[in-house]
Amino acid sequence: MNAIGTRGIGMTSARTRERLMTRLKEQGIRNPEVLNLIRSAPRHLFVDEALASRAYEDMALPIGSGQTISQPYVVARMTEALLHADVPESVLEIGTGCGYQTLILASLVPLVYSVERLGLLQQRARQVLSGLGVRNVRFRHADGGWGWPQHAPYAGILVGAAPAQVPPALLEQLAVGGRMVIPVGNHNEQDLVLITRRNETDYTRKLLERVNFVPLVEGAE
Ligand code: SAH
Repeated sequence: MNAIGTRGIGMTSARTRERLMTRLKEQGIRNPEVLNLIRSAPRHLFVDEALASRAYEDMALPIGSGQTISQPYVVARMTEALLHADVPESVLEIGTGCGYQTLILASLVPLVYSVERLGLLQQRARQVLSGLGVRNVRFRHADGGWGWPQHAPYAGILVGAAPAQVPPALLEQLAVGGRMVIPVGNHNEQDLVLITRRNETDYTRKLLERVNFVPLVEGAE
């Protein structure tokens, strides 16, 4: 990944990547595997060439179609929270976007199921991930508010777009003992919550922090 990862961006990225590491650690990211992956992931390949020089700053950036690539800190935080207990066999991701979070998940988990409602973004994400040699992601072009019932239940579900309420289908498709990380709330600000399924009917909910995601939108196009 490194050979591809550094192409065209040169040594400038090394220093900015280290700065990003320092920032993530200061903000409380502890999982060394997650930190290493964020350090080595070629984030510039997931954004427009014109924005490549900003790819290692800790900020969300536009990826077209009105969507954004998630901020590295948020990706790290969500991944850490999702994998805190132990690493699940597979996870369901809703909102592939450019595929950056997908890459981090696919580097840690044997199998990732990733659902995206915008066909164009999904196609690009597929190409970038396949170019990086990532083979353990299954893609679906659909409204992820309905989950991906065929492969349920999932020990981990990570949602990268914000619904007003947690979609019931996702709660149903979460395995007992499983963990879901999801932003919930209105358009401007949401609660990032960790939901754990204790048994058939009982879920616990823990507030992680306030975040700002694009909304979960119904339907696929
Ligand atoms: N973690 C991603 C975030 C992308 S932004 C990244 O780093 O690129 C959120 C994505 O969720 C967008 O691509 C948007 O199209 C997608 N999305 C929004 N509503 C959705 C839905 N109902 N089903 C699937 N994907 C959805």
